[in-house]
Amino acid sequence: MKHETAFASELTWPDYHAAVHNGGTPILIPLGSMEQHGHHMPLHVDVLLPTEFARRVAPQIGALVAPALTYGYKSHQKSGGGNHLPGTTSLDGATLVSALRDVVKEFARHGVRKICMVNGHFENSWFIIEGIDLALRELRWDGITDLKVVVLSYWDFVHKEAIAQLYPGGFPGWDVEHGGVLETSLMLALYPQHVHLDRAMDHPAATFPPYDVYPVKAEWTPCSGTLSSPKDASAEKGQILLEVCTKGIVDALRTEFA
Ligand code: ZN
Ligand code: MN
Repeated sequence: MKHETAFASELTWPDYHAAVHNGGTPILIPLGSMEQHGHHMPLHVDVLLPTEFARRVAPQIGALVAPALTYGYKSHQKSGGGNHLPGTTSLDGATLVSALRDVVKEFARHGVRKICMVNGHFENSWFIIEGIDLALRELRWDGITDLKVVVLSYWDFVHKEAIAQLYPGGFPGWDVEHGGVLETSLMLALYPQHVHLDRAMDHPAATFPPYDVYPVKAEWTPCSGTLSSPKDASAEKGQILLEVCTKGIVDALRTEFA
């Protein structure tokens, strides 16, 4: 089904109802966070990026994009710098799980039977799964057994060939990519007005001991707030990432929602 907009919330209720009531239209839910992303990028990077991937994917598979979840689970020191940093504004795990459970059940009530969680914040991962699990369990009690939910994080679609192209000097790993080449390149391609590369701090990828300490030891996090340097980011790399990940997500959802 073709829709006049990718965004479900821009439709009137009769148009929305017509699109979703028979279960044919998938709903894509972007999941992000409000989290510091270094000195060079704003706090809503993890919301902007999955929302844009969802917006690009939606028309290719006849889906609609739901409003993003703009708060996420607490930033972990080894993947987001840590929840102690200024600007980072997070939900307790139980709050995030409850919010996701409620939203999934509401879409199911409307008739939606295909949902994709498009994640942009690593720390959300297990809470997304818990929210889905609780929603599916409660929907089963109501006799609804045909809802399918796909969970993905966009960076998992960057294949080996693209990694070699994007990180000629060696790939530091997704865990320390926070505010680094991946996110900064995507932001440069999409929202250059929100990127201040002149204020970016260049430093080696963060290294951590193989354990965690709470309260966190703030000195473990580079003072930039990023976990690797964005120095090698570029809009051209962002374009490659946009194409590779959008295609990967479209292919996955065509398979799962066929
Ligand atoms: Zn991020
Ligand atoms: Mn994040």
